[in-house]
Amino acid sequence: MRRAHHALPTMAYIECKNCGELKRPHMVCSHCGYYREDMPVLADATSAEK
Ligand SMILES: [Zn+2]
Repeated sequence: MRRAHHALPTMAYIECKNCGELKRPHMVCSHCGYYREDMPVLADATSAEK
């Protein structure tokens, strides 16, 4: 009996507060690029590269 069955279920999704799409918690929304209310990650952030 090893730990091959201890993997996290792939059904851990939460609803994006920005667009309503299902997203992985603690991950940037793949639909709108939203991460958190106080830390939005814009899809076009590369254009504002410092
Ligand atoms: Zn979203």
